[in-house]
Amino acid sequence: MSKITMTTPLVEMDGDEMTRILWKMIKDELLVPFIDLKTEYYDLGLECRNKTNDQVTIDSAEATKKYGVAVKCATITPNAARMDEYDLKEMWKSPNGTIRAMLDGTVFRAPITVKGIEPTVRTWKKPITIARHAYGDVYKSVEIKAPGAGKAELVFTGEDGTVIKETIHEFDGAGVLQGMHNVDKSIASFARSCFNYALDTKQDLWFATKDTISKKYDHTFKDIFQEIYDADYAQKFDAAGIEYFYTLIDDAVARVMKSEGGYIWACKNYDGDVMSDMVSSAFGSLAMMTSVLVSPDGNYEYEAAHGTVQRHYYKHLKGEETSTNSVATIFAWTGALRKRGELDGNKDLMEFADKLEKATIDTIESGTMTKDLALITTLENVNAVNSENFIKAIRKTMEA
Ligand code: NAP
Ligand code: MG
Repeated sequence: MSKITMTTPLVEMDGDEMTRILWKMIKDELLVPFIDLKTEYYDLGLECRNKTNDQVTIDSAEATKKYGVAVKCATITPNAARMDEYDLKEMWKSPNGTIRAMLDGTVFRAPITVKGIEPTVRTWKKPITIARHAYGDVYKSVEIKAPGAGKAELVFTGEDGTVIKETIHEFDGAGVLQGMHNVDKSIASFARSCFNYALDTKQDLWFATKDTISKKYDHTFKDIFQEIYDADYAQKFDAAGIEYFYTLIDDAVARVMKSEGGYIWACKNYDGDVMSDMVSSAFGSLAMMTSVLVSPDGNYEYEAAHGTVQRHYYKHLKGEETSTNSVATIFAWTGALRKRGELDGNKDLMEFADKLEKATIDTIESGTMTKDLALITTLENVNAVNSENFIKAIRKTMEA
């Protein structure tokens, strides 16, 4: 059988721990035997980030801007423990944070649904897609640990010299403070990405913030969404028979739990971070959630929503067997290959992505799955397999 050829390379961002192990298995078993895989490789594993002073992360984001499509493995965000473990020169920033800040845009996360894995929330019948704003707020904040009594102020100095000043708090003892920001341009592109994605996928769009408490910050998000909707999208939504709906975040959470699903829930950066873990867990497993960053200039970065699965990796290092679910990482590859195919007019590549996704889902639905799913499935006669045999089973399904 001749391999599928590619014209433009994918930007490949390798990562850490258990997902790095899965990454290689997926390439060896499911991709390279079928595709003449062309990638521009960036090693975002922590060792290489440390060695290059994190330049490799910046280079990989630049390459994504150049080629338009990237696929990323989960990576470690260093903390104090990692400083020792990897003997780091510095507590490097989250690669995802760096890439998001450089590409801007919105992260869309949707659960991969399969028969036999029922959502924990009884009413959910259709996937809920979380659209997470990928710029600013607490992820681009500065913080101070106030050592003792004193006055904290928020100051804006305009280019023209205008000064706007607010007192944050008069401390009478030690405390903490945080300054964060967002920019209208990024909020507007977040809104447009969400409205476009809703039209593309013909799903209602919900958006929620805490505008009753945050009367300037969150209210600006609400206003920008509404202005853009009224000006450019209201008629298109009517024609498509879909709805844009704004509500308070507390109300949104309550409604989500009672809904049937089948809509996009747009969230500010932090809300999206937290809510996507809740939604993916309730749909079955963190390992069944896809994630794509869509930038306003039309660049795409695909990844799994989960982390490096550290606990499993330590078992792997001790020589113990692991049963780590590779579905979201496989779907990161298929998402990227399909998009590459779409942009290059490469139908074979797009069809391959469909086939690999179908083989993955069929494998699970026929009863072969990793432990995380085996524990929660309603299917009977389940064959719970290890990390490697799951990927091999998918290959068998695909070849059949
Ligand atoms: P995690 O890697 O997502 O894993 C948390 C737990 O969820 C695991 O211990 C496992 O539960 C379960 N799980 C997640 N993915 C799974 C999979 N594919 N198959 C089976 N079970 C899975 O989160 P973490 O342990 O909090 O973080 C580990 C590292 O990942 C950290 O260094 C963090 O910085 C990084 N991280 C990276 C990204 C990213 O690159 N996008 C995102 C989040 C976190 P059991 O242990 O109960 O089996
Ligand atoms: Mg998170």
